[in-house]
Amino acid sequence: MVDGERGLALVVEDNPTNLMLTRAVLERGGYRTEAARSAEHALEQLQHVRPDLILMDIELPGRDGLSLARQLKADPATAAIPIVAVTANAMHEDRARVFAAGCDGYITKPISPRTFTAQIEAVLRARREEQEGERRP
Ligand code: MN
Repeated sequence: MVDGERGLALVVEDNPTNLMLTRAVLERGGYRTEAARSAEHALEQLQHVRPDLILMDIELPGRDGLSLARQLKADPATAAIPIVAVTANAMHEDRARVFAAGCDGYITKPISPRTFTAQIEAVLRARREEQEGERRP
């Protein structure tokens, strides 16, 4: 995989260690990355960059990741950007909340460096297949 070939990923994550690990894994997997430490910071970033993918931590200081996801999916300027929630809680209820907020999929923390990129690709593939299914008569 050529560096950055998979596109630009915006990583929304407030924990510095998780942020560093997530960026390193994504970059090794062929993504370029930008980072945001809060929902507000992410909105600011989105004024300047157009990511191909957003990795969304749910528990953020101030506004949480689900609130931000709802806003981005309601805005025509950002609605098409896939959002993958990265959640510490794999409970069924959490999963339902993630999809209700408009996220396209989720990955459970702690992330596994060996499988993280493949998990993202699986979410993107499922999303594409669903969209193709919707277009079919
Ligand atoms: Mn967090």
